Amino acid sequence: MTSQRRRSSRKNLSNLERRLGKAKRLLEEGRVELRFNNEDIAVFRVHGDTDEHSVILRAGIWMCDCEFNSIYPQYPCSHILACQMLLEQIEKEKKN
Ligand SMILES: [Zn+2]
Repeated sequence: MTSQRRRSSRKNLSNLERRLGKAKRLLEEGRVELRFNNEDIAVFRVHGDTDEHSVILRAGIWMCDCEFNSIYPQYPCSHILACQMLLEQIEKEKKN
């Protein structure tokens, strides 16, 4: 049981790495769009490989309408990760 749990947590880690890689690619290819942003809510559009996704940040909670996010709401999907990276970039640019 213990070894099984360890195995599955390692798998989740590698999945996260894969999603981070995909998120970086989405951002680099300019497929992440900030549509709306105020103090309460940020709305993003992500042009994925097969579908378009709406990502929303509200009260510190990220939501995405993709399949991954509905199955694993506890893990951020690649679209959410990409939007987080975009927000970080925007914040950095604001400071400069
Ligand atoms: Zn998603």
